Formats: sequence, structure tokens, C-alpha cells
Amino acid sequence: MSLISIGECPVCRQGELIVVKDPAREMLLVICDDCESQWDSPENAVKGGPPLMDEAESLQDASYGDLENAGWSDLVEHLQHEEQAKRSIFQSGDR
Ligand SMILES: [Zn+2]
Repeated sequence: MSLISIGECPVCRQGELIVVKDPAREMLLVICDDCESQWDSPENAVKGGPPLMDEAESLQDASYGDLENAGWSDLVEHLQHEEQAKRSIFQSGDR
């Protein structure tokens, strides 16, 4: 399964923001794959809001279905739109 990345980390500016699942609290989180800062919403993460103080452990990769269930469907639409845009760039480059 591919990771769901939503952009660059505003804290370290090196890592990528990845959407993950916290099975213990049954919620989604956004985590930086480099400095491991965590946020409870994609808006907070992208805008550089304060990271979570109580960091979750044993996180799992989230799927688009998980995002839909959590009410993050706007984000899913946005990401899928971006993916399609990328794909069409590659396709036109092949010709
Ligand atoms: Zn980071």
C-alpha cells in the first residue's frame, strides 16, 4: 500500500507529511516522516499549527477509505486530483 503524503513538513522542511492511523484512539493523524512531529488534522499540519503533545505510538498506514471515514474526503479529492494531474504530465512526456 502506498503512503498518503500531503506535503512538506512545516517544522523541519525536509520530511514529508504522511497520513497515519492511531488504532488505539481510532483517529487519523498526520506525521512527519523525518522529525516525527504529529498533528490531529491535515489543516494544522500544512499550516504549521502546534504539533500534538501526546504523541501516538504503533501507528498504521492510512488508506483513502480511512480518510473518507474520518470526514477528510475533501483531502482525498484534492490528492486524487493531484495524482491525476501528475499522471497526465507523465503521459504527455512519453509521447
Ligand atoms: Zn518534519
